[in-house]
Amino acid sequence: MNKPLILVVEDDSSVKNLITTTLKAHDYRYLVAGNGETAILEASSHNPDIVLLDLGLPDMDGVEVIHKIRSWSTMPIIVISARSEDTDKIDALDAGADDYLTKPFSVEELLARLRVVQRRLSMMTPVESSVFVNGALRVDYAAGCAYLDDQELHLTPIEYKLLCLLSRNVGKVLTHTFITQNIWGSNWENDVASLRVFMATLRKKLEQGPDSPQYIQTHIGVGYRMIKTE
Ligand code: CA
Repeated sequence: MNKPLILVVEDDSSVKNLITTTLKAHDYRYLVAGNGETAILEASSHNPDIVLLDLGLPDMDGVEVIHKIRSWSTMPIIVISARSEDTDKIDALDAGADDYLTKPFSVEELLARLRVVQRRLSMMTPVESSVFVNGALRVDYAAGCAYLDDQELHLTPIEYKLLCLLSRNVGKVLTHTFITQNIWGSNWENDVASLRVFMATLRKKLEQGPDSPQYIQTHIGVGYRMIKTE
């Protein structure tokens, strides 16, 4: 199998060196772009497996790069943002980024995020299955039922919709806006409050203990992600 090709979009040379050194040491191939325009060009001509994208670029906003890439490709994009770019991070996820890393980040964290995206990719390659399995969780989309340890979960319609949305996007962080738009078709303040309530009741049915979520991870101020269990 070919080594995955990563497009590294970063204008800060020390961060760029940290990333490329890490990639080289872990059997990835990489390309580097120092600005948005080059990033879009490299993405379209080399079709990388994953894009690591800094949001603060010299020539354009990283979110704009995502919009451009998303106009022709679903290639996974992991955003790298500084803490001061928190709202940009949410905009980036809404624009179609798959995940994010906040600066400063550790090498282990970077490698873990790459693995998450790679697992997601390897799950997506087969023809979309009508049954989703993740650990003890099974969602039968065709039948409209979900099971945990072969016991049917008794979910309300909204809880079920939430579970489907999260499972179809397993490994990906979904923002509050993305979820409320998909579930309610709108994005009012009180939708986000309702979302918290429905997510809490869904988790009560799904998770063993509220302090050690196995399936649904909260990203405070951002949204939720279904974790791919091993
Ligand atoms: Ca930058």
